[in-house]
This record gives sequence, C-alpha cells and structure tokens, in this order.
Amino acid sequence: MKKLVVIGGGISGITFIKEVEKSSSKFEIILIEPKEYLEVPYAMLRALVDPVGIGEIVRKEIYKIVKCTHVRAKATELKLKSVVIENGDEIAFDYCVVATGSAINGFSNLKIRSQQSKNERDNQWFEENKILQNAKNIAIVGGGPIGVELAAEIAETYSDKKITLYHGGERLLNQLSKGASKKALRVLKSFNINIVLNTKVSFAKETSNDKVIRLDNQNYSYDLIYKTFGNKYDSTFMKKNFKECINEINQIIVNEYLQLKCNDGIFVIGDINNVAEMKLGAFATKQSKITAQNLISLTDNKPLKKYKPFKGKLSIVTLGRKKGIAQLPFGRLDFLAFYKQKKNFFVDDALNN
Ligand SMILES: Cc1cc2nc3c(=O)[nH]c(=O)nc-3n(C[C@H](O)[C@H](O)[C@H](O)COP(=O)(O)OP(=O)(O)OC[C@H]3O[C@@H](n4cnc5c(N)ncnc54)[C@H](O)[C@@H]3O)c2cc1C
Repeated sequence: MKKLVVIGGGISGITFIKEVEKSSSKFEIILIEPKEYLEVPYAMLRALVDPVGIGEIVRKEIYKIVKCTHVRAKATELKLKSVVIENGDEIAFDYCVVATGSAINGFSNLKIRSQQSKNERDNQWFEENKILQNAKNIAIVGGGPIGVELAAEIAETYSDKKITLYHGGERLLNQLSKGASKKALRVLKSFNINIVLNTKVSFAKETSNDKVIRLDNQNYSYDLIYKTFGNKYDSTFMKKNFKECINEINQIIVNEYLQLKCNDGIFVIGDINNVAEMKLGAFATKQSKITAQNLISLTDNKPLKKYKPFKGKLSIVTLGRKKGIAQLPFGRLDFLAFYKQKKNFFVDDALNN
C-alpha cells in the first residue's frame, strides 16, 4: 500500500480524499487537519443570520465523510518524503497533497479556532448571531462577493439595523460585469444600506473586536465591524525546504498537472496554489477530482491529465433569499442564484460521503 498524506481537510482536501476512496484501495490515507469537522464556507453567511436552520447543517465531523486516518494537527514543515506536525512528530509518505486553502484578511471575529470541537463551533455561531442581533450600527468593509452577500443577509433578516458598506473600488463586485455591480448596488440600496464607494478605510486598532473605523482623520464608531477583504495565503510550512516553490503572495507554484514544480510526488490543490483562476470552491472541487485521477494514473504509470484553468468571470452572489446574481463567462443568468439557495448553498455536495 502506498502512503498518501493530505495536508488540509477543507473543501479541496476532503473532496480529493472522497474521490480516491471511491476509486482505489491502494492508498493508506492520512489527513493532517487541526479541525474535527468540515465547514462549508459558502453557507457561513446565511448561517450567521439563520444559525438554527442552515446553521445546523453547515458543518459535519470529518470521520462521517471520509474513512481515512485523521491526525488533528497543523503541518509545520514539509520535507521531500515526510511532513512534520505541531508536536514534532514526523509522518512519512510516498505521495502528498497540499490543500491548505486561504483565509479572508481580517474576518477575525468569525474565524475558525482550530482546536474547537464541532459542538463548540456550532455554539460559537449562536453567540455570533446574538452579537449581531444586539448590534444596531454595523459596518461591513469590502464590497466583493462576501461583503455584498453579508450586507444583504443582515439587512433582509434584521431590517432594524443601520448598515454601512465601505468599498475601496468604484463599483461593488468589481471582479464581475458592470451590470452585476449595478444590480448589487440597486438591491442593497433597496435594503436601506448606506454604501460608501471609492473609500479605503483604516482601523484605529487591528484587534478582532475593533469597533472604530478611521476615515479622513476622523473616528467612526460601530457596534460591530465585519472586515471582508482580500485573501491571505500561508505557506510557512513550505519555507524551509521548498522556498523556490512559493510566489510573492505565498501561494505555492505548481505545474499544469498541479504538481509542485520541484517534486512530482507532491500535488497542491485549491486556493493555496498559484493557478490563475478565481479562487472558488467550484474550482477547488474540480482540481481535487482531476488530482485524484492523476494520482492513480501516476501510480499506474499512465499519462496524467492537464488541469485547464477557468478563464473569465464566474460567480453566484446571493442578495438575500429572493434575489441574486449569477455571472457566467458569456453573460448573466441571475435565476441560477435561486438554484444556490434551493441547493442550500451546496452543503450536501461538500458534506455527503
Ligand atoms: C465566506 C465565504 C464565502 C464563499 N463563497 C463562495 C461561493 O459562493 N462559491 C464558491 O465557489 N466559493 C466560495 N468561497 C470560496 C471557497 O470557500 C474556497 O475557494 C474553498 O473553500 C477553497 O477550498 P480549499 O480546500 O482550498 O481551502 P479551505 O476550504 O479553506 O480549506 C483549507 C483547510 O486547510 C487547513 N489548514 C490550513 N493550514 C494548515 C496546516 N498548516 N496544516 C494542516 N491543515 C491546514 C484549514 O484548517 C482548512 O480546513 C467562499 C469563501 C468564503 C470564506
């Protein structure tokens, strides 16, 4: 049996393991992931306003999804044929898949605390919902898909809140088409959200419970601030032995088969690699499936399939429960946003085994 280590049990790591477990029995799989459960990030924002409904189906224990051995730890150093974890133990492998994802810059109040059990995380979500319910004056910083979806969720569910959405760009959702931006603006305005464009704010303190925004040398206080901008990549565990495989924003550089450019026994999938496409769960899933096939081909000495990055715009942004935007490369088909709602933000696809 070949020893396969997967680092990171998020959307791509777990999808990859499910695929390998379905298709081959020649691997002993070890997952290194600090969390006990998988949480579906796309459903988090709805779960914040609906912790009893969707909040209860948004995460599931990993052992209920896949059968592999789960080591609850963070990887601290990747070597050519082994990985070192937090307590100093070293786990040897024949093949490795890195799937450590990305984190939103500054979404700190809602972030996963890795040693939490699933129950503790469920309870944290109820607490976050109470904090939200008690806040009257709320700021959301960042008018990308996450900021826009969050603003709509809060405004639709709690119409008594005063919400201000700050965005550095000249239009909301600036990665999508101008029509999508216009619709987002129109719908958010209809929810009485105060939208401030072309404005980069700073913060009086960079703490997670910071409640003051600095703008033009003035302080603006809020009961609650959600910072929803920018992706952050952490590849610290690669720095010692694979420095040449890390780019300037800490993504891991891969070849067209999603293998580490300097070692073909190590694959890197999902948000953490430098593939030039939008960082989305949909593509993380696609990368996981092709990598599972490629790993099996590699061990059978068969040719590997190239991964073709998706070029163009693609996104489904919900605007509360009744409206949304579905941007496809050739135009918009907004009714598809309804499909995302109907499918409960695709939680079953991610969490079912
Ligand atoms: C609020 C929000 C809304 C989103 N909405 C959408 C959407 O509507 N549609 C869409 O397609 N995409 C959406 N995305 C993006 C999508 O969630 C990501 O693209 C996807 O989760 C990436 O999968 P991943 O496996 O690469 O990373 P993740 O799912 O982030 O998983 C990474 C895992 O690696 C683990 N890890 C990190 N470092 C280490 C380490 N050193 N050792 C061991 N484990 C480690 C983490 O604990 C985590 O479990 C959204 C993201 C967010 C945050």
